[in-house]
Amino acid sequence: MANKWVYMFSEGDMTMRNLLGGKGANLAEMTTIGLPVPQGFTITTEACTQYYEDGRKINDEIMAQAMKGVKKMEEINGKKFGDLKNPLLVSVRSGARASMPGMMDTILNLGLNDEVVAAMIAGNPDPAFERFVYDSYRRFIQMFSDVVMEVGKKYFEQLIDKMKEEKGVKFDVELTAADLKTLAEQFKAEYKNQLGTDFPSDPVEQLKLAIEAVFRSWDNPRANVYRRDNDIPYSWGTAVNVMPMVFGNLNNESGTGVAFTRDPATGEKKLMGEFLINAQGEDVVAGVRTPMPIAQMEQEFPEAYAEFIQVCETLENHYHDMQDMEFTVENKKLYMLQCRNGKRTAQAALQIACDLVDEGHKTEEEAVAMIDPRNLDTLLHPQFDAAALKAATPMGKGLGASPGAACGKVVFTADDAEAWAARGEKVVLVRLETSPEDITGMKSAQGILTVRGGMTSHAAVVARGMGTCCVSGCGDIIMDEENKQFTLAGKTFKEGDFISIDGTTGNIYDGVIKTVDASIAGTFGRVMAWADKYRTLKVRTNADTPADAKKARELGAEGIGLCRTEHMFFDPERIAAFREMICSDTVEEREEALDKILPYQQNDFKALYEALEGNPVTIRFLDPPLHEFVPTEDADIEKLAKAKNKTVDEIKALCNSLHEFNPMMGHRGCRLAVTYPEIAKMQTKAVIRAAIEVQKAHPDWNVEPEIMIPLVCEVKELKYVKKTVVETADAEIAAAGVDLKYEVGTMIEIPRAALTADDIAKEADFFCFGTNDLTQMTFGFSRDDAGKFLNAYYDAKIFENDPFAKLDQTGVGKLMDMAVKLGKPVNPKLHIGICGEHGGDPSSVEFCHKIGLDYVSCSPFRVPIARLAAAQAAIANK
Ligand code: PEP
Ligand code: MG
Repeated sequence: MANKWVYMFSEGDMTMRNLLGGKGANLAEMTTIGLPVPQGFTITTEACTQYYEDGRKINDEIMAQAMKGVKKMEEINGKKFGDLKNPLLVSVRSGARASMPGMMDTILNLGLNDEVVAAMIAGNPDPAFERFVYDSYRRFIQMFSDVVMEVGKKYFEQLIDKMKEEKGVKFDVELTAADLKTLAEQFKAEYKNQLGTDFPSDPVEQLKLAIEAVFRSWDNPRANVYRRDNDIPYSWGTAVNVMPMVFGNLNNESGTGVAFTRDPATGEKKLMGEFLINAQGEDVVAGVRTPMPIAQMEQEFPEAYAEFIQVCETLENHYHDMQDMEFTVENKKLYMLQCRNGKRTAQAALQIACDLVDEGHKTEEEAVAMIDPRNLDTLLHPQFDAAALKAATPMGKGLGASPGAACGKVVFTADDAEAWAARGEKVVLVRLETSPEDITGMKSAQGILTVRGGMTSHAAVVARGMGTCCVSGCGDIIMDEENKQFTLAGKTFKEGDFISIDGTTGNIYDGVIKTVDASIAGTFGRVMAWADKYRTLKVRTNADTPADAKKARELGAEGIGLCRTEHMFFDPERIAAFREMICSDTVEEREEALDKILPYQQNDFKALYEALEGNPVTIRFLDPPLHEFVPTEDADIEKLAKAKNKTVDEIKALCNSLHEFNPMMGHRGCRLAVTYPEIAKMQTKAVIRAAIEVQKAHPDWNVEPEIMIPLVCEVKELKYVKKTVVETADAEIAAAGVDLKYEVGTMIEIPRAALTADDIAKEADFFCFGTNDLTQMTFGFSRDDAGKFLNAYYDAKIFENDPFAKLDQTGVGKLMDMAVKLGKPVNPKLHIGICGEHGGDPSSVEFCHKIGLDYVSCSPFRVPIARLAAAQAAIANK
């Protein structure tokens, strides 16, 4: 049978999300459960994939099925597409599997042309109806030109602004039928002016171009960035929903709204939303007029409101989750245009998850599975220092659209936000309103402040998704975008001036307010306890200082998976001793220098063991190339020359000799311990002496250091270094007359180590995947330079993600899986973890669970994310 590319809403249901997209599946589901949905059809995501396979063309078969869908839609609705007597107008809307708010395109009022407009007006003498028809027509021409033909919407906005100015009105609802008619004419002229052709009048052609535009929008730059940020594969494609228009802009008995069944910022169980009389959907989102709170709809449209409340209850009971809905009231009658599980802040996600368990909607496991781990980041982000905040007086207030605190220099464009952030400045992006083109700039900013727009405006929705603090709709701001300044509370703020904004209260402050780390409690603890109950993967942290280790413990880390000891040498006192060590000519000289470092290291390790209270601590021996430590400043070179009793030239020559062409593949890792075993000796002494001390002080703790040898590629290399470690450690333990256990393991971060893991496992007590280096060496990409060309790889669709951030499961993952499978049978006691950056990335954590690792180790603030991701992996792969 030929492919089925088109499904009427009555043919689908919510299980068909992959094929129909989220919007299409939910429209079908709402139809099935009897909610008032204008009946249309969905063109499948597979049709989108086919469109790309066919060289960005809609093939005849797909178009023929779409036209059959139109025919059925005409029959159901008793109207005809392009008809002069009873014309059917439609909306054409995107809808991918995962919701991507504002990323792709929508066209409303499609099917209008001069003849249809004239016939509609002729058929209804009411002057308000004429106004409505022209209002719809000018909207359609603008949207079609912008979205389908890519004529910038600014040309049309300028014409609207000019018209409003000429007529002396503030809002477009105040424009008359004649004004709107003139606008429609002006818009068509602008279209011809920009494109050199007439505006297409054939509704079928309009529809085909619109469907094409939605498919095309899957590949627009903002959608590509959003997908990368949200782990949505390019291969999924978007569906297209074609639906009869219902008109919120018909008259004052009509309107349009968006609502959430629970507060998307806090999770509180109460209806939240906004409603605009005599408007179409995009007006609410774009913040053209400030909408009324949803509760006020009750006075204006009591019946539709009562029905809507009923619908909200039905949907929550059906989906067992907070719903985000779009609806329209036409002549007092309610129509549902969309529902989906609503996007929410991390705080709301936790609250809602707990409430849904308490209300019997979800099990604990389901509650754990419904929280996006990446979202937790926002909970861990800074808030304003309470005392500093108390002392500050807000100079203005907008809506608290996305929680958190932000402080930075004012910038006025998304490009500036990006450029300033790239050079290390903290910025707050101040805009009249944001639009999807601003997305990268919004991402670069600490916070976003807008003059217009409600809680469901673009700025609010997108900022919440990103976890960026946002205050929207501060109408008191007098904006002067051209001169890059604004005035608020009588003060003019220029580009570069500091402001602080509070995304929870909506307050805006002049100048800098100190921020502090977030504190987490309540629902966070409850959900994390559930996560801990269901996960099997342990979560450790990468920490080099007791402060980091302590923070990580607070956030639930069960050990240190990686202490990079080289990070302990950069202190000015230590680096002097370290430089003496690397510029030594003899072993004795080197040992003398190392003796100076030993007490520092011993104290470092002691503090780490103490912070970890008997939980595992993995200490990795010195890894980086030595040239990183050589002095470059004349004063430092002279100081070193003096200490070593050498000439400046001799020191310079020594430093030059340490220079390498490929330092990342050079004299680093265990290679240092092979050439200078005395370094490994010193580090072993420090590790063991510290452990003995702490074990003595805390007999109830189990202090069992794990010594990790980096950059091993050959078992003999490990054997060689291990011999030094074991001899030194055993001598220390014997001398102290104690019984201390310790382990010696290795990082698996060179492909050859993964390939020969069965040999290496014979000598190792544990493996830890260093996926930063393993990625570097598997791809042959320098981890320091790949950023320079990865963008070209994204544009060319060679890569969808940065392999240094999200584990490449196909290649690097295959090596990991192989190493686990080779290593475990040889050494059943072998424990295996990961400590590359991927250890805190949710999809990589799931992979680690699947290949049977024992733990992941990540930076302290990613520990909760890893705990949740590990639980989700266990639940999903039961
Ligand atoms: C790694 O390579 O993944 C690793 C954890 O070590 P480093 O980043 O210190 O090279
Ligand atoms: Mg490494």
